[in-house]
Amino acid sequence: MSNETILNRLRKGQVWLISEARALRAMPDMGVGTAREAMFVKMFLTWADLEHTLRFLEPETGCVMGSQCDPQALILCETCSSHET
Ligand SMILES: [Zn+2]
Repeated sequence: MSNETILNRLRKGQVWLISEARALRAMPDMGVGTAREAMFVKMFLTWADLEHTLRFLEPETGCVMGSQCDPQALILCETCSSHET
């Protein structure tokens, strides 16, 4: 899998995670304990692993979205979340 492929997967994954996070927030108790939440957590961990892999292969990688993650997105890449503080 090339770095470009990983980047594309991260971008698509982030879009999915953001929409799922919004959907869960709209559910009673934010969807805690539902199958949908379990899937979200699983996918989020997979996504984070993939991001670590990419940054290991290519330490110079900046924001996975190209310039900056949407601050409202709830799901930020490591570059953007490290700028949060
Ligand atoms: Zn980012």
